[in-house]
Amino acid sequence: MDDVVIVGGGIIGASTAYFLSKEGRKVRVIERDPSYKKASFPLSLGGFRRQFFQKENINLGKFALEFISDISNTLKTKNNPNPTASMVPNGYLLLFGPEHAEEQYEALKNHKACDAGTKNIPASNLKEIFSWINPEGLETATYTDSKIEGWIDPHMFHNALKNKAIELGAKFEKGNVEKLSDIKAKTIVSAAGCWTKELLDDIPVVPQKHTVFRVKCPKHYADMPLTGDLPSGVYWRPEGKEYLAGSPNSKFDSPDLEPEWDDFESLVWPALANRVPEFEQLKLTGGWAGYYDCNTLDNNAIVGKHPKYENVFLATGFTGRGLMQSPGIGRGLTELITTGKYQTIDLSCFGLDRISAKQKRTEPYVL
Ligand SMILES: Cc1cc2nc3c(=O)[nH]c(=O)nc-3n(C[C@H](O)[C@H](O)[C@H](O)COP(=O)(O)OP(=O)(O)OC[C@H]3O[C@@H](n4cnc5c(N)ncnc54)[C@H](O)[C@@H]3O)c2cc1C
Repeated sequence: MDDVVIVGGGIIGASTAYFLSKEGRKVRVIERDPSYKKASFPLSLGGFRRQFFQKENINLGKFALEFISDISNTLKTKNNPNPTASMVPNGYLLLFGPEHAEEQYEALKNHKACDAGTKNIPASNLKEIFSWINPEGLETATYTDSKIEGWIDPHMFHNALKNKAIELGAKFEKGNVEKLSDIKAKTIVSAAGCWTKELLDDIPVVPQKHTVFRVKCPKHYADMPLTGDLPSGVYWRPEGKEYLAGSPNSKFDSPDLEPEWDDFESLVWPALANRVPEFEQLKLTGGWAGYYDCNTLDNNAIVGKHPKYENVFLATGFTGRGLMQSPGIGRGLTELITTGKYQTIDLSCFGLDRISAKQKRTEPYVL
């Protein structure tokens, strides 16, 4: 019998394998597609932030920075002596219209309680800091400018976690798990992302297709933060000499990952040009689509022990934030598995009880 088997070697599987191996557990990771062609993490925007409503999400975002900042030490291996996640700490800027302002002022209390280091300004003052912005229709904004939020290269981060886990003894194998009951292990961790329902049919997580466009603009702001325009749902950030922009439109039941190209003309470009007038001159240069592991109950993570099984733990449902939460989730699951309770960030609010009881605990700031 195996000690621990993790199903899914994506970012959550790799992080959990690393933290469990560090605690001396013997980990086998089973991944059906080691090229990770359709997995969510390589298709993500790589963003990490602490600007959420709920304290647990804020704290997971804070831990992401702490962990990523130290990987040159913690994830160093013989084969990968200089691990990096290519962090770009440009910060996040979230823009709110009057319809979101009250909720945002509440969220700021949580930011403060968590010592998140975010700043709040009325929309009328935005142009003094972000010269490129058109603040029309906005009421308030939050941002960071102290290199505590930004984005990373998801491939490099995954690679660093996986390499370190392997050096610590974890085994990554190719294989498709059809049923969890086929696995004989003391502990099973389901880290199957948006495909979790194939293994655990009571988990309300499904693939939700999201499209990202690559665009070029004569005016390039290399220091632009990852900006989320909540009224339109469009978000963007610089990428090399270009920009990446996410569509607010998402699609369930989409078996293919063909980008929703029409969204660019109808939704994304108008919203970009409205908020950054210089984006009127954009040129579309490419794009891709990937699946969010969407929790259809409340857009929040589902993490913990499955109540129906003795030995099954799971982590999924991150709905656009699994990459940034992967360090905190890998650490938290390891604490739960090895000591029976969370030792650092208390993740009990993401537990399975609320799922069985259909009690929503909605995180509003989904991009
Ligand atoms: C367009 C887009 C933008 C995003 N932007 C961000 C962002 O900026 N920041 C952020 O934090 N998050 C972002 N995300 C979300 C993030 O990518 C996901 O939440 C995260 O990757 C989930 O990690 P995971 O390991 O659970 O799933 P995955 O990365 O999908 O990995 C799951 C793995 O499990 C394997 N698997 C599944 N079932 C089985 C089985 N039965 N047997 C064996 N293997 C199996 C799959 O092959 C896959 O490799 C974005 C996602 C998309 C699509």
